Amino acid sequence: MYLTNTQLTVGNGKCYACGKHNNYDENGMNVYQWSDDGSVEQTFKVVYGASYNNYNGGYRFRAKTSANGQYRVLDIVKSGSSVISGCNVEIWAPTDNVAQYFEIIEVSSGKYKIVPVANTGVALTSYGTSNGSNAGTASTSAGNIYLSTYTGSNNQLWTFTEISTVAETAYANMDFSFPLSVTTISSGYAKRNYDGKFHAGIDIPASAGTEIMSANTGKVVKIIDEQNTTTGRGYGVIVESSSNYVYGTSTKIRTMYIHMQELSTLSENDTVTKGVTQIGKVGNTGASGGNHLHFSVISDGSTGAGLTQERTLNPFFFYPNVSFTYSY
Ligand SMILES: [Zn+2]
Repeated sequence: MYLTNTQLTVGNGKCYACGKHNNYDENGMNVYQWSDDGSVEQTFKVVYGASYNNYNGGYRFRAKTSANGQYRVLDIVKSGSSVISGCNVEIWAPTDNVAQYFEIIEVSSGKYKIVPVANTGVALTSYGTSNGSNAGTASTSAGNIYLSTYTGSNNQLWTFTEISTVAETAYANMDFSFPLSVTTISSGYAKRNYDGKFHAGIDIPASAGTEIMSANTGKVVKIIDEQNTTTGRGYGVIVESSSNYVYGTSTKIRTMYIHMQELSTLSENDTVTKGVTQIGKVGNTGASGGNHLHFSVISDGSTGAGLTQERTLNPFFFYPNVSFTYSY
């Protein structure tokens, strides 16, 4: 099974979905059921992994909200080293085979039990029929997803729904180039746990002075010079694509590069070529805690002040073939 964008729904036609985790892209975020709200945090990639240790492989559920499925996966909070009834389920980096590989077994037409490869007597279970919460991590917390001995109850039977990938495919086909040679991310396109704010781009740490190349071909529409150290974007540039549109609209995609070392040598209306034109150099200007590039993809045609999730696109959609690593 390889389902690109999969929503899991538990029970007999109830409108609850697995995988809500407050949109936090961080280790240890609780997973709980929630009414279908169409958000990316309710979708997973279901990807088969090769065999390991004495097990015969299994499926990982890759959280779409994290690097488009690359970095966080469904993870069992083990009891000691054991995967047993009562263990909670969260998202975590893909580092623990025992806690992160599952078998998917059809019980009746279109309904599946999802069991850890390490212990097939227990199954992914939702508690009750209410919406859950990030804080409700006990096996009796309303709406929580956890492991329980398999009994065949409706709260242990799941369906898989494939979500349309048309827009994502369109973005991937635009073949943007990544603006830096390094691909380690220190903050993803997700809500941050520590302040509850949505981070509408990605942060890529790099040495001061590292060259930033344009991700797309187009023209410069904004030169940014905001040096306030609590609110400013420092030195930056916004490029508008010449021929890449926000899917289904007539708005052209814009890319934004901020916290650069110095004012860009480019000017507004200059044309740029992806992977060829240097935008500037990595720095630590404006509201920045270290040398890094903040990179956003703007979807509302604006000059990028106060960006939100609704006004941006997930940068990872544009780089399906880049393997990102995380430093947080
Ligand atoms: Zn940032």
